[in-house]
Amino acid sequence: MDDGVLATAEAGASAPAHEPGDTVIQLQGVRKEFGSFVAVKSADFGIRRGEFFAMLGPSGCGKTTTLKMIAGFEQPTHGRVLLEGVDVSRTPPHKRNVNTVFQQYALFPHMTIADNVAFGPRSKRMAKRDYLPRVAEMLEIVRLSDFSDRKPSQLSGGQQQRVALARALVNYPSALLLDEPLAALDLKLREAMQIELKRIQREVGITFVFVTHDQGEALTMSDRIAVMSEGVVEQIGTPEEIYHRPASMFVAGFIGSANLLPGTVEASDGGAAVVRLNCGPVVRAAGPRLPATGDPVSVMLRPERLTIAMAPAGEGTSLRGTVRDVIFQGSSARVELVLADGTSIVTYVDPDDDLPFLMPGAEVHATWRPDAAYLLAGWPGQAGSNVTDVDQIEAAL
Ligand code: ATP
Repeated sequence: MDDGVLATAEAGASAPAHEPGDTVIQLQGVRKEFGSFVAVKSADFGIRRGEFFAMLGPSGCGKTTTLKMIAGFEQPTHGRVLLEGVDVSRTPPHKRNVNTVFQQYALFPHMTIADNVAFGPRSKRMAKRDYLPRVAEMLEIVRLSDFSDRKPSQLSGGQQQRVALARALVNYPSALLLDEPLAALDLKLREAMQIELKRIQREVGITFVFVTHDQGEALTMSDRIAVMSEGVVEQIGTPEEIYHRPASMFVAGFIGSANLLPGTVEASDGGAAVVRLNCGPVVRAAGPRLPATGDPVSVMLRPERLTIAMAPAGEGTSLRGTVRDVIFQGSSARVELVLADGTSIVTYVDPDDDLPFLMPGAEVHATWRPDAAYLLAGWPGQAGSNVTDVDQIEAAL
């Protein structure tokens, strides 16, 4: 069986043809225990051919362990990992047709860039006439053709990263697994590499599975994101789905900034719920499931979907508050409002907007379009503005 999987990588000089969109990696009831500690509770999902798939979550949520089970560096305690439809749960890493790029890309310092990239095909004893065109193709894709005779020490961090990618892609793996590959780069380079990585992935058409704790990175690059928390996959969806229609309070608070306002359902009608917020006002909100009267719920309002006005808007689509702070942030100004019960919410305004009334202490109204209020089950740990500060989460661990 394994030979069949490997054969895909070795059959000729061009990437194997497959149906786009079919499932390359399937996790079935995958659980990982380390002694009495459960790192991954039960992962059940498929990763499609040619997609950029991110596993996102705070440190310790089990994303690296999941990636290692796909790579073969860890074995599931229960469940199965299928690669190209074949159960590889007990197959060692080198016999799986996947490649992993780690944070430390460990290029061979004494070899040229071209030889670094050729290392994989050579060790598989591929003929020179077969692998040379592949090496040239990969160097072209990562835009390093002019650097093929250099040594790794003569390249920048971002260029070395691209060599590591070319080396990992040259055997046309079924999937490339990337474990926080940009974490070692400084911010500017990291942002440039996010765009570059996405371009490379599109060009080679190979499935990328990317582990990150950085939500911005996941939103920028991914076709789909699996958001994980405490060993559980909370939601899998496109960046838009995850951002605008989060499946849980955790996802709502983890992705981007969200104003989460707890309340109780008073009635449901026409696909929306009428919610009495704990801070007083009654608002309308819709979500994937309409709750029953009396249920505790939360209304999520994304800051950028709120507008500041002097007067209230239509029924159930505005909140009155006092301006606490206006902070200029370049392309926008961040406005913090305090509601009647002390809950603080956040919105952004364009610094060029003519809003002379917008100063600390002013009474204003935050208003929104009816479809901007999203309903979630339960109450949040913290009412009001929730901003995920990844560095803060990391520091707390
Ligand atoms: P990070 O971003 O910090 O790498 P993560 O989400 O990738 O976090 P994992 O590395 O998957 O997290 O670890 C999940 C949990 O399993 C953590 O609590 C970790 O301490 C634990 N863990 C991981 N590997 C082992 C191991 N070999 N033995 C015991 N516990 C482990």
